[in-house]
Amino acid sequence: MNILVINCGSSSLKYQLIDSATENVLAKGIVERIGMEGSCITHTPAGRDKVVKTQPMEDHNEAVRLVIEALIDPEHGVIKSLSEIGAVGHRVVHGGEKFKTAVKIDASVIKDIEDLSSLAPLHNPANLIGIHACEKNMPGVPQAAVFDTAFHQTMPQKAYMYGLPYEYYEKYKIRRYGFHGTSHDFVSNRAAEILGKDRKDLKIIVCHLGNGASISAVKNGECVDTSMGLTPLEGLIMGTRSGDLDPAILDFICEKEGLSSAEMNTVLNKKSGVYGLSGGISSDFRDLTAASKEGNELAKMALETYCYHVAKYIGSYTVAMQGVDVIAFTAGIGENDTGVRKGVCEYLKFMGVNIDEEKIMTRGEEVTVSTPDSKVTVMVVPTNEELAIARQTLAIL
Ligand code: AMP
Repeated sequence: MNILVINCGSSSLKYQLIDSATENVLAKGIVERIGMEGSCITHTPAGRDKVVKTQPMEDHNEAVRLVIEALIDPEHGVIKSLSEIGAVGHRVVHGGEKFKTAVKIDASVIKDIEDLSSLAPLHNPANLIGIHACEKNMPGVPQAAVFDTAFHQTMPQKAYMYGLPYEYYEKYKIRRYGFHGTSHDFVSNRAAEILGKDRKDLKIIVCHLGNGASISAVKNGECVDTSMGLTPLEGLIMGTRSGDLDPAILDFICEKEGLSSAEMNTVLNKKSGVYGLSGGISSDFRDLTAASKEGNELAKMALETYCYHVAKYIGSYTVAMQGVDVIAFTAGIGENDTGVRKGVCEYLKFMGVNIDEEKIMTRGEEVTVSTPDSKVTVMVVPTNEELAIARQTLAIL
């Protein structure tokens, strides 16, 4: 069965058509600037050149229509008709406490996703627009919602409660939810598979280090802690997001700089992280590494601070699980930035982590970067969230 995987944002829509039998990607693409000037679709059929088509489009309905047109196009398409799409799998950011697994979408699921929008005001409404657009353009095709938060729902209460008055949890469900769950699930599973072991017998720390970054402790196959919280702002220092802070800093800066809470929110989400720390050089680790090599002290400090924070989380999750068998690096930085991997592993030597100096330099592929005598196996496992969504969609439909 061909499964169309959709990741719908407020002005963009990413898609992949995956043949579930072979798990091959038949085509992928992105529609950008939906409802704005300069909107376009970039469509890449597997093994062929990408095709970019600039076309005005009013809304996500038109965007989905263009995706279908591209998929069945006689020249650039990969299927003959809509009937060759057996199901649609949607990435949905927030499933709250309600959704512990992926689900088939029906009217009540849509209502629940709507109700959860207060916890993810930027994401859930956009995900819903994608769901409605697919319903309209592909009537009768079953759709599934795969939640970013679901994998973390196994966390014990002591890991997800904040030290706040309990009434806020009761009234507003303020707690740690965690994100990137599909990736943490996929990578921890794959790491066990590569090692020829059952995930149920392992203590795994997954470091998902991308533009957004999170880390999770997966003990005996279940997530027991993760670094992102109520929102994806908590935890590690990220590309442009601050990660953990003393909460009193917010009021302090607002008062000193005369910022509103919305403006402060923008600072925390868009102007902080390694971008802010480096004095605005870049949020991209390639630029920061280049600047650091040229002697830029702020770039060097930003990279060092980043590695230190990742290592501190690994330390705390080792305590949370009372040990660790595997540390897996994934996502853009985890898969490619050899300097960050080395910088983090340097802190872990005391716990018997031994790195193979050649293998740690490998980029973008599955590889064990620790030596055979290392007490902890350190691996690079490229994530594949779209494939994970397609698998879960197939499983529930
Ligand atoms: P992601 O959000 O997983 O797509 O990760 C994107 C980030 O990965 C970029 O912002 C870069 O910081 C980082 N990245 C991608 N490729 C490389 C590379 N070859 N070397 C270092 N960092 C990279």
